[in-house]
Amino acid sequence: MPELPEVETVRISLEPLILGARILELRELTAGVLYNWTGQPEAASGRTVTGLRRRGKYLLLDLGPDLLLIAHLRMTGQFKYEAQPPVWQKHDHIVISLEKPGTGKVWLVFHDTRRFGRIWLLRPDQTCQIAGLASLGPEPLDPQLDSETLRLRLSRHSRTNLKAALLSQTVIAGLGNIYVDESLFLSGINPQRLAGSLSPGEAAHLLSCMQKILQAAVNARGTSVKDYVDALNVRGSFQYQLQVYGRSGQPCTQCGTPLAKTRLAGRTTVYCPHCQPI
Ligand SMILES: [Zn+2]
Repeated sequence: MPELPEVETVRISLEPLILGARILELRELTAGVLYNWTGQPEAASGRTVTGLRRRGKYLLLDLGPDLLLIAHLRMTGQFKYEAQPPVWQKHDHIVISLEKPGTGKVWLVFHDTRRFGRIWLLRPDQTCQIAGLASLGPEPLDPQLDSETLRLRLSRHSRTNLKAALLSQTVIAGLGNIYVDESLFLSGINPQRLAGSLSPGEAAHLLSCMQKILQAAVNARGTSVKDYVDALNVRGSFQYQLQVYGRSGQPCTQCGTPLAKTRLAGRTTVYCPHCQPI
């Protein structure tokens, strides 16, 4: 599932290609993927892409000051940029044709094999109706974020383990199974610890490790362990830097102890019992 670094990579890959482009047509090939809350079927037509932003795992396209296209890729959602007229493939659900001055006509295809991905077309005042977006915690890479904020937000989940609290999106935005496990390993903190049990020093260390991991993953253009690719079909390379995710039973890169596996918040969780003691 694309997490913060993958969605940010999609955003970075799309920005030079479609910023300033005018939407000619937004076409639904499959019903039930697009949620158009504007009441106008052709709301996107004629609109110019004035901004590409990311919030947590959501990708936000500004279509002028009063319209937004918001996407959540969920498990397998993918935007494919095409400079040639695309031939529809199975699992292509939405096709947006655009015209950019100097480039001519281009296409953005939303492809999703599992079909859990969602796209919304809405006004800025309607974004609060997307519950997952409205309840997001702060951005981990925001330089304004301080570790005391993280500690206090974690302490509101005092009876939850750290893994579940960090996955919830409401404590902090954008981390999924890969980057929670990697951040906790780098910080030496056990994922089974209670979310409210971190000392100020531990919270500061965790935030700093989380930021290092996420920034390194953005720099590596994300992690491609299964099918993640960016808008130009380019795979990420952070999978070569993973220390614990997908490595249960293999020796810890720091101490050689076999990495342990447990299930927390319904997700496989890998950690080093020696480097991350309870
Ligand atoms: Zn270890």
